[in-house]
Amino acid sequence: MVSVAEVVGQWIPTRARTTSKGWRGANAVCCHHRGHKPDSRGRGNWLVDSQSHVSYSCYNCGFRCRYTGDGLTDSFRMLLSWMSVPQDIIDGLKMHELQKSFEGSSNVEINNSVISPEPLWEPDPWPQNSQLISQLLEQNNQDLDFLQAWHYINQRGPSVMRNSKYFWSPYLGRWKMRHRVLIPLRDQKTHIVGYSARWAGTPSGGQPRYVNSKLPTDYLFNSHMLYNNRHFVVVVEGLLTAISIDCVAVMSHVLSQGQISQLQHSGKEIIIMPDQEQQNQDLIDQALQLNWAVSFPQWEESCKDAADAALRYGELFTVRSIIDARTTSDLKIGVLRQTIGKNNGV
Ligand SMILES: [Zn+2]
Repeated sequence: MVSVAEVVGQWIPTRARTTSKGWRGANAVCCHHRGHKPDSRGRGNWLVDSQSHVSYSCYNCGFRCRYTGDGLTDSFRMLLSWMSVPQDIIDGLKMHELQKSFEGSSNVEINNSVISPEPLWEPDPWPQNSQLISQLLEQNNQDLDFLQAWHYINQRGPSVMRNSKYFWSPYLGRWKMRHRVLIPLRDQKTHIVGYSARWAGTPSGGQPRYVNSKLPTDYLFNSHMLYNNRHFVVVVEGLLTAISIDCVAVMSHVLSQGQISQLQHSGKEIIIMPDQEQQNQDLIDQALQLNWAVSFPQWEESCKDAADAALRYGELFTVRSIIDARTTSDLKIGVLRQTIGKNNGV
């Protein structure tokens, strides 16, 4: 008997691309069945996770459903038929799920035989001889690449320096680590679970700006903020922006389902602070669907993100201006999102 995860894997549109954190994106299959215009912008998202659970989320019409190993819901069966899975296969899966529910929890073996579970998550080692930048300064290290890394992080402003520790490694390797600043990534208990290596300046030779160590599924940067006693949680895309105003970062242009549910379960008021670049507005689309606030602070043109604003106005003023400029009105968000990026380069 094939599993639900396997059927989904076989019937995901063939041209689906892999996006962040294992999600696969392709044109949504739901919209035109629900009275919306068919999707042509690849806004359907599928995730089969290591437990063989399946999530589907459409950023076009907002249709979402999940399969979590205990029965097929009506909406999930609908999804399968919209994906053109033949009716007899869907019926077979439905029968099989029913049988499982009668047999109690004897389905463990079935799942394992179909998709081998991912190994338990284990952190990557840090690059060789990584050391705190503050210690290297005390030791009067004169390595030019180190000084460049220190200069880069220092010029990002006092709040960036204050709100995190930074490391440097003389290791070169594929990602030319010695040209990067190593930023520790922590879990909700503030234990270090990995690192992000940010190129010190503008990367050269086709190098990416950020290289991350392997991270837990649905990792949110600064997720300990979800468990403190503040009322608001500000969510931004990038790491250094998040450090500069001590808030949460997605570390991607779009939230995964698991990140969304962490935020939803925090019980806090979520404020999405979009990057001031026009191309990526996926977080705004997600905020609209989830009825979260989006903030459009009126900063000077030279501020392209909250990190720049914190450098210019200070951290507290910047956070205050984000909270004050939040809105949940679809209409306002629709108008204000069009102004994003318009000031750049003027
Ligand atoms: Zn849809």
